[in-house]
Amino acid sequence: MNERLLQAIDDRRDDVVALTAELIRFPTINPPGEAYRPCAEFIGARLRKRGFETEFIRAEGTPGDTDRYPRVNVVARFDGRSPGACVHFNSHIDVVEAGDGWTVDPFAGIVRDGRVYGRGACDMKGGLAASIIAAEAFMEVYPDFPGAIEISGTVDEESGGFGGVAHLAGLGYFSKPRVDHVIIPEPLNKDRICLGHRGVWWAEIETKGEIAHGSMPFLGDNAVRHMGAVLQAFEDELFPALDRKITRMPVVPEGARRSTMNINSIHGGQTEDFRPGLPSPNVPDSCRLTIDRRFLLEEDLATVKAEVTGILERLKRERKKFDYEIRDLMEVLPLMTERDAPVVKAVAQGIHAIFDREPDYVISPGTYDQKHIARIGHIYDCIAYGPGILDLAHRPDEWVGIEDMVESAKVMAIGLNVLLRGTTG
Ligand SMILES: [Zn+2]
Repeated sequence: MNERLLQAIDDRRDDVVALTAELIRFPTINPPGEAYRPCAEFIGARLRKRGFETEFIRAEGTPGDTDRYPRVNVVARFDGRSPGACVHFNSHIDVVEAGDGWTVDPFAGIVRDGRVYGRGACDMKGGLAASIIAAEAFMEVYPDFPGAIEISGTVDEESGGFGGVAHLAGLGYFSKPRVDHVIIPEPLNKDRICLGHRGVWWAEIETKGEIAHGSMPFLGDNAVRHMGAVLQAFEDELFPALDRKITRMPVVPEGARRSTMNINSIHGGQTEDFRPGLPSPNVPDSCRLTIDRRFLLEEDLATVKAEVTGILERLKRERKKFDYEIRDLMEVLPLMTERDAPVVKAVAQGIHAIFDREPDYVISPGTYDQKHIARIGHIYDCIAYGPGILDLAHRPDEWVGIEDMVESAKVMAIGLNVLLRGTTG
């Protein structure tokens, strides 16, 4: 075990606390994307002082980007004394809205009882701070290290990452030869390695009808009743079938270790908005339903879609006047980094050194920015690893444990040592 490296991180305990609290004080709420620029500039200024080269990349023209809410990302790079691999730590700086139920100010960065409280404390400003002190401690102890370290603070993860990692990946920031290994310090707990996520297919289904006066529905054709038949078929056939599809992916929580589908929304008929509570008396000629289907490594997207369209086609044959359209809204393929991939093995060695146990390998039920790094950047040596308890994310009184940040920074530093210097010693 490397005592100097671990001591250098212990010496930075107050620093990681102060840094996390300062990051929380930027209310980077998304939507709309508040305070992105000052938060990115704060991170850049910190790292520039340690010798990093910094770039600020605004994702102009991506969803939500305006002069009032510019999508500003920061990428910092430190090149070692000799060529070698590059390890990139990527954290999103955006947070979701605070919401109700807080007993502390969500943007004050309050430190109490060994925890830092605030919106984004665990998801994921604590992880960003831990990765920064891990890199700084490593650079201090091994000033002659080969290769390079990059740290990025990116925006819009909570809204799909289009102005953040997807944009940067499109510009080549997450591709070889620039980057070899990526660690995303999302709050997956300090002794777990997240290898990837399930796939996603979002789609909108619309059933068609024919408008008529509500007092004479027999003269029209009710699109909502047609959608009722769709939902009934989902209940009878699709949901039970999905429930039977179990995966070898170690998804957490365990309930997500199978195929799932959520009905996100349903809209039919005229709006009640203009006369509260009273829509006009019409037979609805359109009903729209959005589905959120999460699928597994064992499934392919074409089959996932065919399960739904098969039901719709059958209804078209069997049900009088039934007609529909279906539109794809989002597609993300499932991802699982292999357990013998270099970044997985390096972080596993760190977990072993600090906790004297093997890591738990997990898969996230939902996606995160790893999808863009794989699909656009073609980097597959990528994991999520960071401090914080996933269940606290997006909740009131969100916090991150100080000891958890320090320990996970040690794991990250050991990971850097393995990936760049080829040793834990
Ligand atoms: Zn997150």
